[in-house]
Amino acid sequence: MGMSSAATVATNFLTHIIESDLSEGRVAGVVTRFPPEPNGYLHFGHAKSICLNFGLAQRYGGRCHLRLDDTNPATEDDEYVQSIEQSVRWLGFDWGEHHHFASDYFEQLYRFAEALILAGHAYVDSQSTEDLRRRRGSLTEPGEDSPFRARSANESLELFRRMRAGEFPDGTHVLRARIDMAAPNMNLRDPLLYRIRHVAHHRTGNTWCIYPLYDYAHPLSDAIEGISHSICTLEFEDHRPLYDWLVDRVRELGLLPHPTRPHQYEFSRLNLTYIVLSKRKLIELIEKKVVSGWDDPRMPTLVGAQRRGYPAEGFRRFVEQSGVSKSDGWIDYSVLEGSMRDVLNEQAPRRVAVLDPLELIIENMPEGETVECTVVNHPQRPELGSRTMPFERRLWIEREDFQAEPQKGFFRLAPGARVRLKYAFVAECTGFDADADGRVTQVRARIFEDSRSGTPGADLYKVKGNLHWVAQRHAVDLEVRQYDRLFSVPIPGARREGDGPEVERSFLDDLNPHSIEVLQAYGEPALAQAKAAEPLQFERHGYFVVDARDSRPGALVFNRTVGLKDTWQG
Ligand code: ATP
Ligand code: MG
Repeated sequence: MGMSSAATVATNFLTHIIESDLSEGRVAGVVTRFPPEPNGYLHFGHAKSICLNFGLAQRYGGRCHLRLDDTNPATEDDEYVQSIEQSVRWLGFDWGEHHHFASDYFEQLYRFAEALILAGHAYVDSQSTEDLRRRRGSLTEPGEDSPFRARSANESLELFRRMRAGEFPDGTHVLRARIDMAAPNMNLRDPLLYRIRHVAHHRTGNTWCIYPLYDYAHPLSDAIEGISHSICTLEFEDHRPLYDWLVDRVRELGLLPHPTRPHQYEFSRLNLTYIVLSKRKLIELIEKKVVSGWDDPRMPTLVGAQRRGYPAEGFRRFVEQSGVSKSDGWIDYSVLEGSMRDVLNEQAPRRVAVLDPLELIIENMPEGETVECTVVNHPQRPELGSRTMPFERRLWIEREDFQAEPQKGFFRLAPGARVRLKYAFVAECTGFDADADGRVTQVRARIFEDSRSGTPGADLYKVKGNLHWVAQRHAVDLEVRQYDRLFSVPIPGARREGDGPEVERSFLDDLNPHSIEVLQAYGEPALAQAKAAEPLQFERHGYFVVDARDSRPGALVFNRTVGLKDTWQG
């Protein structure tokens, strides 16, 4: 199992189960699987499942399969399959030769179904959809037997074969398990196993016109692959008795290739504040054009994360730190951002960019003269080397680094004030110009020649402000997209205090109107060489990455990944 860094799974209730299964000899080894349905792009919730399943296999020297659960032909597509594979690999995991599709087992699953019919465990029901629903009962009332429940095995088998042969239109017959219409667990009330759907499948084309339901295909695919621990989210807890029933029945019939019988375990899904993690809602954001697509940097998808610049290592750390449990809860988005920031702080070379430029003229520096300043690429990692930045008469500084009438506690540039221009000289402000509206248009300063950073006299100047700057003649034009959270409240669409019963809220009402701000900025010369997917820290601003889709040499576009500190928590 290949992985680019340390194990991602800390001790949790699943590791206890696995360790006891291994020590008691209940399983020979650990085989897990990540089973996405290829009907959308993977989101941050899936990252948790991926890190958990692959991480557990790795921790116990087992293996993890990638299985595309493609039993619903109407919504599935190869585009999604490829993106899912790419995202899992990007997260640092490798399924080796164990890349499977539920559709690989359609023939085998069909044979299991015939065997179940012959053994009296399944029957063809020919009720209308409405009658099926009506007779299912409710949480408080038992269901009612179908008039077709007593159908003989031979009659059901013949009908089932004719269903497969395409003799019937959609909705005329279904295959059901014969369990118990009065079971308190609705999933056991003769659940549907197959239905007729005259729809082409993205892999099997028109070979099939009957398709297995997820609840049938999933446990049996696990059993076919010899999965030992089938890990899923809590909403499947009520499906576990059906999972067990199906695996046990097919096993009794001697049809399973592996001695290991899979068991299902549930953990609570990842819920993160300030975003939504449901494919349905993500699709709505795209269809309503709130975002530019699945890979919009504000989307909580793994393709969006890559474009945004979130490192894969940040997800692995986040999953490890946030743990695995059986109780539902919300994790604040700042925790995820914190994991990303920690990794980026270690990895990202430093660069200088001025995002809101204001002209600074160094009056005692002649036009055309350049002082090359040496700048280290990473303060804690000398192995990343250094670069030079030209210092000249005409500079750009940040507009917010100058105040004509400084507030109390403002230690940056103001008339008469001294600051260090980072990596260069101490400068004293000698004046400024403003336009008719009072907006500052130019600041002037002079430098002290003996204050150059790195020279013996530099430390004699005591200043509190340390400003970054870019020389105008050498500045690189940058478009900077400042991304922020997509939603402005922790739980988008949640009811607010004081909402009357008539109030209905949608997650779309809680969009953050400031989730993107586009700036025209100036960068130091080294930024012209920035490469896609290479994280950088813009000093004093945060972490940024070249936008892989829109950036061009000569027309660079940067995305803000995350700020240097958490500004949402105050
Ligand atoms: P969604 O509910 O967003 O549509 P899904 O559960 O339908 O997602 P699948 O493709 O069926 O998506 O999921 C593949 C795997 O990922 C499943 O095992 C599922 O339990 C897991 N998974 C999905 N969402 C989360 C989440 N928020 N946290 C942890 N695991 C998740
Ligand atoms: Mg699902």
